[in-house]
Amino acid sequence: MGQVNDETAVNRRGAVLARLLKARTVVPALLAVAAILTGAYSLGLAVDPYVTRPAPAAGSPSATATGAPANRPVAREPGRRNSEPMAQPVTGPNRPPLPEDRNGPFGSRMTTGMSYVALTFDDGPDPNYTPQTLALLRRYEVKATFCLVGENARRYPQLVRAIAADGHTLCNHSWNHDFGLGARGRKVIEDDLRRTNEAILAAVPDGKISYFRHPGGNWTSGAVTVAREMGMTSLHWTVDPQDWTLPGAGSIAATVNAGAHPGAIVLLHDAGGNRQGTVNALRSILPNVGRRFPLDALPAGIDQPPRFGIELPLHPGQV
Ligand SMILES: [Zn+2]
Repeated sequence: MGQVNDETAVNRRGAVLARLLKARTVVPALLAVAAILTGAYSLGLAVDPYVTRPAPAAGSPSATATGAPANRPVAREPGRRNSEPMAQPVTGPNRPPLPEDRNGPFGSRMTTGMSYVALTFDDGPDPNYTPQTLALLRRYEVKATFCLVGENARRYPQLVRAIAADGHTLCNHSWNHDFGLGARGRKVIEDDLRRTNEAILAAVPDGKISYFRHPGGNWTSGAVTVAREMGMTSLHWTVDPQDWTLPGAGSIAATVNAGAHPGAIVLLHDAGGNRQGTVNALRSILPNVGRRFPLDALPAGIDQPPRFGIELPLHPGQV
C-alpha cells in the first residue's frame, strides 16, 4: 500500500507541475517578481532609505552633490558588473536627520545609525592641511564633517567658506580647544559654544551647525546638556587611529581601513599639528573604505526624536 501511495503522490506532484508549466503566465510572473526584488536589493533600497530620496532641483545648494559622474574613482562595489551603475545617495548635509543614537559617553552619538561611514576632521581649519583635505575629498566625491575650533574659524573664514561650499557638514569644536570646558560652569560652556558658532556663522551666515564635539572627547553631562539645549547633537566617534600622536600615514590608514564598518564615525584631524600623515592616509582611506561602504557627511539636521513616546528635555544627571 505504501508504495502505491508514494507513486500516487509522485503522480499528483507531477500533474501539478505540468499544470503550472502549461500556465504560461505563471512562470513569467514569478520571474518578474524575482527581478523586481533583486533589483531593489542591488539598489540598496532595503538597506538605506536615503538612497531613494529624489535629487534636489538644479541650482539648489546640494545639486552639485548629486548624480554619478563618470570619473568617480570609487565607482563599483565588489562583484558588481561594470555595466551596473551604483545607486548614488543624496550626499552632504541636506538630508533627513539620523535616527537617534545616544550610545556614546554621556549620551553622545557614536555611530551614523545608517549604513554609511562618516569621516570627521577636527581642530581646523588650517591653511595648510584643510585645503589638501578638501581637495582629496573632492577628488573622491566624499562629503565629510568638520569640527571647527572657533579661534581658527575667526582667523580663516575663507577656509570655513570653502568647507561649506564643498557641501561638508559643520560641527562646533569649542572656542580654543579647552579640554576642561565640560567641567566648567554652565554659563561658561554656553558662552564658549555660542562664540564658536558665531565665528563660524560670520564666515557662512546661512551655515547650519547641528553638532558639537568636546575637545579630546572629554564629555560631561553638562557639556552634552548645554549642546543639546543649543540645538546641537554631541558627536563622539567609533574609530580612532590616534592620528594626533603622529603614528604615520601607514598606521592611520591601516587602523581606519580595518576598523571601518557600517555606521562607523571616524575621528581624524586636519589641524592642531603636523597633519601630513593624516592627509597622506586619506589617499588610502578614501578609495579603500569608499569601495566597501558609502562615505558621507552627518546630515545637518539634529537627531530625529524617538518615533514613539514623548521626548522630554534632558536635565543634568539624566544623560
Ligand atoms: Zn580636537
